[in-house]
Amino acid sequence: MDEFELIGRYFAHMGAARADVDLGVGDDAALLRVPESTDLVAAVDTIVEGRHFPAGAAARSIGHRALAVNLSDIAAMGAEPAWATLALTLPRADKEWLDGFARGFGDLACAHGVALVGGDTTAGPLTISVQILGHVPRGSALTRGGAKAGDVLAVTGTLGDAGAGLALATGALEMRDPAAARELLQRFEYPTPRVEFGIAARGIASAAMDISDGLVGDLPKLAAACGLGATVEVERLPMSRALHAAGDEEKTRAWALGAGDDYELLIAVPPERFSELATRAGQLNLTLTAIGALHRGNALKWTLHGAEFTPSVQGFDHFRRASTQITV
Ligand code: ADP
Ligand code: MG
Repeated sequence: MDEFELIGRYFAHMGAARADVDLGVGDDAALLRVPESTDLVAAVDTIVEGRHFPAGAAARSIGHRALAVNLSDIAAMGAEPAWATLALTLPRADKEWLDGFARGFGDLACAHGVALVGGDTTAGPLTISVQILGHVPRGSALTRGGAKAGDVLAVTGTLGDAGAGLALATGALEMRDPAAARELLQRFEYPTPRVEFGIAARGIASAAMDISDGLVGDLPKLAAACGLGATVEVERLPMSRALHAAGDEEKTRAWALGAGDDYELLIAVPPERFSELATRAGQLNLTLTAIGALHRGNALKWTLHGAEFTPSVQGFDHFRRASTQITV
């Protein structure tokens, strides 16, 4: 299989067929019709073997995650995803691997109505970059800034599951409960980007971001963008039953605070609109849990049952000394 056979076979018609794609895969660049009165929303994320997923991870999971992490950024903006490009660096053109990768990427793309409109294919260490493009009614995007003192901090879904799932995937964790283990592994391998919720939060949330590097690492970014401080009541962090089966309180709390990869959304919302937003989440079969509040100043405070609490974990940072080693 040469490069062009590979592109034709796997990537020429991947994802949803969209009427707003005037020219997709096959030319020098794609031509896309951006709806009137919208802002184009663009994001790119790369995943690297040995950094973001363990060597030998299932190809379908890699395809799914490569797109999911990008859809999560679109979700955090309250935008509607539309198009994607894929820069794929592969050690070899292995048919079985490509079949799995294409299935993972393609199924998620179809589920969100995303068309793959271009890319680049090269040989080298396994690295996948996806650029996602979407749109949002002009001026209505959710950003990390914009919240006011007194706004409630809330998160979608449950935290920490993917962290435990990664530990299961690397053999660092073993569990007796196979159903719970499967659920946690699934949360790492096949994360669900909260796209519909992001759209539903437009006009209600005052700030949003996706939690990709862990709450401890990501909350300071949102607070700083708002020019505010924050308090989190750690006992309120939503955790799944499956996570509770994975370890004691200290361990599960560390995953919920520090692990990335859940791709839940961190939201700020004026207190009087919290229940409206929680109702919208409920309509999407998603929980929205208040975990704290933003306040004047720049202090970040963590409490556990009213007492001051110092998280024992840090958020993920590629260039911090401890994390420049292979993490998975
Ligand atoms: P060029 O040299 O002009 O960049 P390429 O030979 O790299 O073109 O790619 C040919 C066509 O195939 C282009 O339209 C490009 O967007 C598309 N393409 C290449 N690799 C991929 C991929 N992995 N996924 C989707 N489209 C791809
Ligand atoms: Mg090219």
